[in-house]
Amino acid sequence: MNINYKEYEKEVIELRRYFHENPELGFKEYNTSEHIKEYLKKLGLDPYTVAGTGVVAVIKGGYPGKTVLLRADMDALPIQEENDVSYASKNPGVMHACGHDGHMAMLLVAARVLVQLRDELHGNVKLVFQPNEEIAGACYMVDEGVLENPHVDASFGVHLWTPIESGKIGLKSGPVMAEMFNFKINVMGVSCHSSAPQDGVDAILCASNIVQVLQSIPVREINPMDTTIISVCSIHGGSSTNIISDKVVLEGSIRYLYDGRDDGMEQPRKRMERIVNGICAAYRAKAEISFEPSNYILINDEESVAFLKEKVMPEIVPDSEIIPYCTMGGEDFSEFTNRNNVPGAFIFIGTGNREKGTDHPHHCNTFNIDEETLITGVKLHVETARKYLQ
Ligand SMILES: [Zn+2]
Ligand SMILES: [Zn+2]
Repeated sequence: MNINYKEYEKEVIELRRYFHENPELGFKEYNTSEHIKEYLKKLGLDPYTVAGTGVVAVIKGGYPGKTVLLRADMDALPIQEENDVSYASKNPGVMHACGHDGHMAMLLVAARVLVQLRDELHGNVKLVFQPNEEIAGACYMVDEGVLENPHVDASFGVHLWTPIESGKIGLKSGPVMAEMFNFKINVMGVSCHSSAPQDGVDAILCASNIVQVLQSIPVREINPMDTTIISVCSIHGGSSTNIISDKVVLEGSIRYLYDGRDDGMEQPRKRMERIVNGICAAYRAKAEISFEPSNYILINDEESVAFLKEKVMPEIVPDSEIIPYCTMGGEDFSEFTNRNNVPGAFIFIGTGNREKGTDHPHHCNTFNIDEETLITGVKLHVETARKYLQ
């Protein structure tokens, strides 16, 4: 069956504007979730809820075969929108400033097309609408079994991306988005009068040393080709000008663009622990370190990328418009792929257009997308599923 994608351009823009006007924060996507379910029900599908506000529906093909997962994220951000557009956010202080409004619209319209194509598909398409991407919501869907019943053989996801020009696609194999952990370090000393510091253990002096020496990890312990960023973003301690402080709390994040789980050497978090504990020992202080996973590294496997380049991309853009792309941003799509040993890939759809003012950074209060690129996302979803289930 030949698809005339032009027919769907208007609908995908309208849907995107609806989601844009009605943004909801992570795990609070109640109206969004209902709207998605209604749409899918009208297509004759049987959507169900996963992880509170997430929605899943399966399109069963005409023949038995594999199952391919397509994912869109649903959450908006706590940002007051500053765009002067007719479809601006009606929810004060909340804004779709990352393009997830477009992601939902693209996957819904792709579902409409795929339902028409179902007789020719060998296998199933699992449509996954995921809550709370900004704060790692994907793992809750995996915990509730989204990768089973039917078992998922491959997962594909997309992100509209303003740093890439409209008309271009970012795609490469290997690491594409960073592994990221938030950390908290409690440095514990002993308080005393500031006139007799020898009676105590100064947590502030110790903590300030930790802040500096942590920077030696990326520049002196890790191959400079393996990008690593450690940022201490908050420091709190002390109560008065005449008391040596007994406690300092340091918080920040560590990101790296390689698999830090099993690299045959000390992983970056272990290196942090060693340095923090070593400095504390030198100062007679104690440390408590905790890491909270934010996103695990997102790695596109070679075969999936080769499949996309060979079979899918020729339908989407000329080869010259595909750029190898990766970023230190985090993305929990890794839960649907490498983190759980499912082959797959994550694709960046360029939506930056200076003339249209859609080249502002993600998470900025004037962020906007080039709506003409939405249909590219529809096509990409449809052709990925279609070719995968041929
Ligand atoms: Zn974001
Ligand atoms: Zn995003």
